[in-house]
Amino acid sequence: MSLLTTPVDIAHIDVMDSRPLIYCQCCRSYEHACQSGATPKMWLQAATYVGWRHVRSEHFDLDVVCPECVAAFHLPAIHMRKEAV
Ligand SMILES: [Zn+2]
Repeated sequence: MSLLTTPVDIAHIDVMDSRPLIYCQCCRSYEHACQSGATPKMWLQAATYVGWRHVRSEHFDLDVVCPECVAAFHLPAIHMRKEAV
C-alpha cells in the first residue's frame, strides 16, 4: 500500500467559539486552540508542525489525520491487526 501524506488544507480548520479547531477524521480526537486570538492559519501551521497530515492511499483519503494516527498508518500491519479485533 502506498501512502501519501501532504499538509492539511486550511479549508479543514473549523472555528468554534471564535477559536480554531482541528479534528481527526480517523480517531475523532481534536485539538482546540486555547487563545481566542489564534487564526485558522496560525492553527494550521501549529498543527502541521506537530504532525497533522492529509493522508491518502489507493483505499482511502482522509483530509485530516492527527499525529498518532499518522504514525499508526506507517505501521500498517499493527494497525490492521488492531482493526480486526
Ligand atoms: Zn487520530
